[in-house]
Amino acid sequence: MTNKAIIVKNLVKRYKKATENAVDDISFTVKEGEFFAFLGPNGAGKTTAISILTTTLSKTSGEVTVAGFDIEKQNNEVRKNIGIIFQNPSLDLNLTAEENIRFHAILYNLYPFFPSFALMPQSYKDKVMELAEIIGIKDDLNKPVKSFSGGMKRKLEIVRSLIHNPKVLFLDEPTTGLDPASRKNLWQYLKQVRKDLGTTVFLTTHYLDEAEGADKVVIINKGKIVAEGTPKQIKEDLVEKYLRVESKDMSSLEKELQQQKLEFTKDGDGFRVHITHGSEEIHQILKKITAELSDIDIHLPTLEEAYLEIIQGKPENV
Ligand code: ADP
Repeated sequence: MTNKAIIVKNLVKRYKKATENAVDDISFTVKEGEFFAFLGPNGAGKTTAISILTTTLSKTSGEVTVAGFDIEKQNNEVRKNIGIIFQNPSLDLNLTAEENIRFHAILYNLYPFFPSFALMPQSYKDKVMELAEIIGIKDDLNKPVKSFSGGMKRKLEIVRSLIHNPKVLFLDEPTTGLDPASRKNLWQYLKQVRKDLGTTVFLTTHYLDEAEGADKVVIINKGKIVAEGTPKQIKEDLVEKYLRVESKDMSSLEKELQQQKLEFTKDGDGFRVHITHGSEEIHQILKKITAELSDIDIHLPTLEEAYLEIIQGKPENV
C-alpha cells in the first residue's frame, strides 16, 4: 500500500436518465492515517461519491483506489480493508452487543463460528475486549442492543466495523440524531482509535464543528470540488478576522486607532478593527491603545462561516 489511503482521479458519476453529473470530475487524495472531511450541502454528491468509494455503486468514469486497491478490479480487497458506518444503524436489536460483533466477524470470514463468546478463539476475544475498551463499552458487551442509547449503538457500530482492522473507516454523518454530549464522546473515541490503530477516517457530516479537527477538508457543491485544504487554509482567505473594542471614551479610542493607521468600522457601541495579518497583530494593536477598554472581543473565523461563504457566496452586510 502506498502512503495514500484513497486516490480519486477524475471521478464522474451520471445516473441513468440524468441530464447532469451527480459527481462531476472530482480528484483528491487522502493520506494514510489522515482524518479527512468531505463536506457539501444536500444533493452535492457526497453519498454518490462515498457509495462509489465503498464499492456499492458503479462509477461512470475516472479512477479510484482505496487502501491501495482498485475499486472495480479489486473490489473484494477494498471491502476487506474498509469499515463503513452509515446514517442508519444496521444492528440486530435482538442480539447482544457482542453477538452483533461476532456475526459481523464471521461474515468477514475472520473467525469460525462458535455459539458463545467463551468458545470463540482467544484472538477474537482479545480483539473484542481491546476495541470495547477503546470505545468504552466493555461493560455492556453482553447486554441486548435494544437497551442501548443512540450513542451506545454508534459506539457498538464502530467496534464492529473495526473488528477486521480496516485501513479506512468511512463515516457517513455518524452523529446525526445524537445529543451534543454523545457527539463529543464519539469524537473523543474516534480520536483514540486513530491514535491507537492508525485508521484513516473519511467523514461526511452536516456539523461543521466536527470537521474543524480534520487534517484535510474537501467541500463539494453540485458535484464539483469548490474548496480543498486544511480547515485553516480554507478559512484564511474567506472569513474576516477582527478585533472588537469598546471604551467609555470612544473618541479617544477612535483617535488612537486612526493614529495606528488601522482599518476599522463602527460596530454597535464599539469599533471593529480588521485584522489582515496573523493573530500576533492583535497583541500589537492592544499594546498601543491607552484609552480604557470596557470590552474586547476577538472574532476568529470558524469552518462553518467559511463553508457558508463558499456555498452561499459572501454575505452582504457583514
Ligand atoms: P448528497 O449525498 O451530497 O446529499 P447525493 O449524492 O445523494 O448528494 O446526490 C447527488 C445528486 O445525484 C442529486 O442531484 C441527486 O438528486 C442525484 N441522485 C442521487 N441518487 C440518485 C439516483 N439513484 N438516481 C438518480 N439521481 C440520483
